[in-house]
Amino acid sequence: MYWDQLTSPQIAELDKNIPVILPIAAIEQHGAHLPLATDRMIGEHHCQQLNKKIGDKVLILPTISVGCSEHHTDFAGSLSVQHSTFLNQMTDIANCVVKYGFKNFMVLNSHGGNLAIAGTFLEIFGYRNPQCNVVVATWWKIALEKLKKLNKSGQGGAGHAGEFETSLMLLIAPKLVQKDKIGKKTNVPTFDWAEGDMLAGGKAGLYRTMKAMTPSGVYGDANYGTKKQGKQITKIVGKALQKIVLDLYGK
Ligand SMILES: [Zn+2]
Repeated sequence: MYWDQLTSPQIAELDKNIPVILPIAAIEQHGAHLPLATDRMIGEHHCQQLNKKIGDKVLILPTISVGCSEHHTDFAGSLSVQHSTFLNQMTDIANCVVKYGFKNFMVLNSHGGNLAIAGTFLEIFGYRNPQCNVVVATWWKIALEKLKKLNKSGQGGAGHAGEFETSLMLLIAPKLVQKDKIGKKTNVPTFDWAEGDMLAGGKAGLYRTMKAMTPSGVYGDANYGTKKQGKQITKIVGKALQKIVLDLYGK
């Protein structure tokens, strides 16, 4: 079910064990071949799949579309809010949900730049709401081991606008993928301890803007993206997501 498609009396009458999902995303550059809405569309795609499978056991909130993307703003079109603004937005919405009596609150993240502040939200909101299960999940992390097996582009290939995101967009919105604009991998290497992608983080964090990480804005290799892989990712992530939601629901 979608939160904003129900009426107020319907929300009031719902079983309060139903997990409520807040999708958080980004509107930011994804190289020359993918649209700015890529992270929002991918997050909403995973939610739609979940709704198809277990729609009566999950409640999906409207997405917070604009996330923390300051490091992308050297590229035109990227939008960003400050970490404090984003934390307040998540907290304000979660406070409303809890006020209506819901016991299971989950943030579903689809953008790397939101990871740190989503973790902070988990610590603060979880502590202040001991009556609730508070969860933060990022789609590529909940099924990491299985996703690693799908990876064809090797280390550093499944990064921002790279193999996986391109595969998903070829499935979700093929008309928005400009395949002729896909170029060679442009990851700029630094220290070995700082290297990482969606599948394996670096040993230590080294701050760089996206422009410094990759002049094309793509971190990874989009050439390996396929619609077939998009379907495989959807299935793997869908299963993992469904397990979390049903575990929280507990029925
Ligand atoms: Zn993305």
